[in-house]
Amino acid sequence: MKNAIVTGASSGIGLACAYKLVNMGYKVIGVSRDFSKCNCDHHNFVHVACDLTKKEQLVALQHKIDKQNTYILINAAGVGHFGPHETLRIDQIEEIITLNLTAPLLLTKLFLKPLKENSGYIFNISSISAQQPAIFGAAYGASKAGLQHFGHSLFKEARKSGLKVINIAPDITNTAFFDGLDFKPTEDPQSFIEPEDIADIVAHTLNLRPNTVVTNITLEPQKFKLEKRPRKKSQ
Ligand code: NAP
Repeated sequence: MKNAIVTGASSGIGLACAYKLVNMGYKVIGVSRDFSKCNCDHHNFVHVACDLTKKEQLVALQHKIDKQNTYILINAAGVGHFGPHETLRIDQIEEIITLNLTAPLLLTKLFLKPLKENSGYIFNISSISAQQPAIFGAAYGASKAGLQHFGHSLFKEARKSGLKVINIAPDITNTAFFDGLDFKPTEDPQSFIEPEDIADIVAHTLNLRPNTVVTNITLEPQKFKLEKRPRKKSQ
C-alpha cells in the first residue's frame, strides 16, 4: 500500500486531503499536535502526534513512519499571525518561519530518498501571499514565498528521478486558520474556497498522466471579501 504523509491533518486543508487520499486507497500518516479536535477515525488514517516546531520531535518522525513506501508528502501544517510587522511578537514571527518554512524543508530532507525512488509527489500548501505583497502579512508571505521557491528549485533538482513537486497557492479558505485572527471569510460562499476543493486539486494532479507535471496551482474564490474583527493588541 502506498503511504501519504500529511502534515496539518487534524484540521482544514490537511484533513480534507487526508480523507481524499484514504478514499483513493492510500494509507495516510497524519501529523499534527492534536487529533482529538477532529472526528477522523479510519483504519487507513494513522495519527502521529508531533509538534513540528520542535526539531527533536520532527526528526524522530523518520523512525515512526515506514519510509520505504512513502509516495506522497503534503506539507499543509501552517500558521498565520497578521498585523503591522512591529506589532508581531518575536515568538509569533519565529512560529511562522519554523512551522511554515523550516519544518517542510526538514521533512522533505528526511523523506526525499524514498519519494525520489518511488517517483512520488510533494505538495506544498503555500498561499497566494507568496505571489503578491501581503500587507500586514509580511512575515507570513515571506514564509510562503520561501516554501514556494524551495519547491520549484527542488523539482528542477530532482525531476530526473520522477519526483513531482507541486505548489498549491490558495487564497481565503474556509478553515480554523482564522480562529485567532482579526479577519475571517464572510458568510458569502462565493468569497472563500472550501478545503475539499484543494483536496480535489490534489486528487486531480495525482490522476494526471505521469509525464505531465503541474508545478504551480493558484486558487481564488469568485469574489474577494473579508470580514474584519476588532484588532487584538500584541506586544
Ligand atoms: P487550520 O485548519 O488551522 O489547520 C492548520 C493545521 O496545522 C492543523 O492541523 C494544526 O494541527 C496544524 N499545526 C499547527 N501548528 C502545528 C505544529 N506546531 N505542529 C504540527 N502541526 C501544527 O488551517 P488551514 O487553513 O487548513 O491551513 C493549512 C495550510 O494552508 C497552512 O499552511 C496555511 O498557511 C495554508 N493556507 C491557508 C489559507 C486559508 O485561507 N485558510 C490560505 C492559504 C494558505 P494541530 O493544532 O493539531 O497541531
